[in-house]
Amino acid sequence: MRKTWKLIGLVLVCSMLAVSVPEKMPVSATGSTSATIQQKKDEINKAKEERKKLQQGLSDVKKMVSKLEKSKTSLKNYVKELDSQLSSVQTKIQELKDLISEKEEEIEQTKKELEEAIAIEEKQYEEMKIRIKFMYEKGNHFYLDMMLGASSFGDMLNKAQYVESISAYDRQKLEEFQLNRELIEVCKQELEEEEAMLQEAKTAVEQEQANLEVLIDTKEKEITAFESDIKTQEQAIKEYEEYIREQDETIAALEKALKEMQNSNIKYDGGMFAWPAPSYTRITSEYGWRIHPTLKVNKFHNGVDMGAPGGSPILAAYDGEVVQAGYSSTMGNYIYLNHGSGLVTIYMHASKLYVTKGQVVSKGDKIAAVGTTGRSTGNHLHFGVRLNGEYVSPWNYLK
Ligand SMILES: [Zn+2]
Repeated sequence: MRKTWKLIGLVLVCSMLAVSVPEKMPVSATGSTSATIQQKKDEINKAKEERKKLQQGLSDVKKMVSKLEKSKTSLKNYVKELDSQLSSVQTKIQELKDLISEKEEEIEQTKKELEEAIAIEEKQYEEMKIRIKFMYEKGNHFYLDMMLGASSFGDMLNKAQYVESISAYDRQKLEEFQLNRELIEVCKQELEEEEAMLQEAKTAVEQEQANLEVLIDTKEKEITAFESDIKTQEQAIKEYEEYIREQDETIAALEKALKEMQNSNIKYDGGMFAWPAPSYTRITSEYGWRIHPTLKVNKFHNGVDMGAPGGSPILAAYDGEVVQAGYSSTMGNYIYLNHGSGLVTIYMHASKLYVTKGQVVSKGDKIAAVGTTGRSTGNHLHFGVRLNGEYVSPWNYLK
């Protein structure tokens, strides 16, 4: 099972690598034909397609990791179960050990009793033998002497009975002791049999313990293998995420390039400009060489100054895009408009700006208000026109 997953993982990583090496798409800054725009759009679609594939791969790997995690968890639960079995087996072993040592103590005690019984029996036997020997040696003579020594008939009977009872006592005692010894022997045998049984049980349970320990060891090794698989897959997830992030960057760069292209696609169609300061009263300074009014030096004036009331509207001279709308100490509040085909108009010294960078405007849109910010001597609009990076006369475009 594990091997299969590993294989799937490998295949996935391989296919991931296959899709994750997007050819670096050339991002050209200019080039405004519709063919290149279409080409760019195709590239974006292709990049998005690749991103989709990566996302699918990522989700596959994540599913696999979750499967592995589940298997690992169930395996861990199994090991937990085995551990609890092991601990109950160990308890059983301890119980058996206790019983065996109890039994051994009893056997030891019984052995002592048996030794004592044997000693008593032997003593009785020895004493009996002495008495028998004595009577035998004395023979009838002893018996007769005893009988004749009797003080009376009754005494004689007593003495005869005494001799008889002596031998009867000896016999009885011997029998008694023999039986006792036999009983102890039986007890000892029973105990030994019981101990043997307990030992057998202990051996069986110890075998069970050994089996469980082997099983737990095997399962723990499997868990380690699962963990290693999960680690590998998590590495794959990281790589996928990295590739997707790179793909996102590629898509963003392509889209930016496309946008720039579409923007630079603005074309100046050659039409005449709208008058940018409709409330103007007079031209206060012409385009061309002049003495600068505040700096008092001969200087080229690169635009047309239109005297107009402060706050009166400044209009976009033509369709275009706001390249910059900002402030500088010389130009005051100013606006750069791009009309495409290298044509740019500039509006300076405004009191207020109504547009922001990037905004697309149409000819005649109100973009600012006349003012006297920056290096200026009074309310007026400085209107400049640039073509392909050079100032040109605004009159080329104004009626
Ligand atoms: Zn000026």
